[in-house]
Amino acid sequence: MAESKRDYYEVLGVDKNADDAALKKAYRELAKKYHPDMNPDNPEAEKKFKEASEAYGVLSDPEKRRKYDQFGHAAFEGGGGFSDFDFSSMDFGDILGDLFGDFFGGGFGSRSRRSNSTGPMKGANVRTSARISFMDAVFGCDKEIDINLKETCKTCNGSGAKPGTKPETCPKCGGKGQVVMTSQTLFGMMQNVQTCPDCRGTGKIVKEKCPDCRGLGYQTEKKRIQVSIPAGIDNGQSVRIRDKGEPGVNGGPRGDLLVEVVVQRHEIFQRQDTNIFSTAPISYAQAALGGEVLIDTVDGKVAYDVKPGTQTDTRVRLKGKGVPSLRNKQVRGDHYVTLTVQVPEKLNNEAKELLRRFDELTGNSLHSTEDYREKKKKKGFFG
Ligand SMILES: [Zn+2]
Ligand SMILES: [Zn+2]
Repeated sequence: MAESKRDYYEVLGVDKNADDAALKKAYRELAKKYHPDMNPDNPEAEKKFKEASEAYGVLSDPEKRRKYDQFGHAAFEGGGGFSDFDFSSMDFGDILGDLFGDFFGGGFGSRSRRSNSTGPMKGANVRTSARISFMDAVFGCDKEIDINLKETCKTCNGSGAKPGTKPETCPKCGGKGQVVMTSQTLFGMMQNVQTCPDCRGTGKIVKEKCPDCRGLGYQTEKKRIQVSIPAGIDNGQSVRIRDKGEPGVNGGPRGDLLVEVVVQRHEIFQRQDTNIFSTAPISYAQAALGGEVLIDTVDGKVAYDVKPGTQTDTRVRLKGKGVPSLRNKQVRGDHYVTLTVQVPEKLNNEAKELLRRFDELTGNSLHSTEDYREKKKKKGFFG
């Protein structure tokens, strides 16, 4: 290990305060790019994949992250390095499951689990989505959603085996849940570890299935749950609800439910991070003379003092009228308003006359060829 190791935060391209979601997102992107399955025979990609996996493994574990923040790489050295790094203790199951779900159109991913052990395993995470309004995203809301929650079957305690019988150790993998496949390739014999096809990684085979769950080990119940959506959430972000995912295996904890938020568009407001953008009409006279106008914000109408001589498409800032920060809702972004000067389309005669007067006074009296002729006539230029 002669080469110096890169900083884990740098490897993932996140900042030191990155939360779980940001870490996960960064790792997923790197894993997608460099996964060996996507880059066969590319040692460089494999190295990058391992590097990212190691960084994620450490930073996603609060204990390891604390040690790393305190001591740096030295925290894990002791003859360490990639080769000794303990990947088996890391929970890549759902993250890589998601990844392959993306590639193969879902289904596959959501059921994939860490398969290198038959001890207690955390259940898979479940994803769902919730549609909310623009204003609910800004200020947060409580939302009820219906989910199909898998409950461990009480009859068989999740084993899937008929009461009085026991699941047997899978003869194909000897209970390991994995098998080594050997194949002949151009480069010689290749060994490849795969999830056991007979027991699908559980290490156990159910001979007589539980009649209540048909061997699945769980029953599905419809549940209505309340989701507290925090102020400042943005389209595409997820709320994690602990222990509402799939049941754990062999006494492991339940997975989590991830509710992805879909934010509806707003008629007037657009959003970028914590800032809001909109346009507001002002009259020609307001633009020229200045004065107070009322502007729609997420807090309702707000008075704004337009400066005399404001040009059309001037952008002004309403400080602190934007979206609250997810981390601290006391901190809010700004609202930027583009003031557009409205040119009147219909005028009565009096208004027209006033505008002509105005034009004359401001020294710009040539309205049309007709007016021009009219003037010449008065001054006796013709005949
Ligand atoms: Zn059962
Ligand atoms: Zn097996």
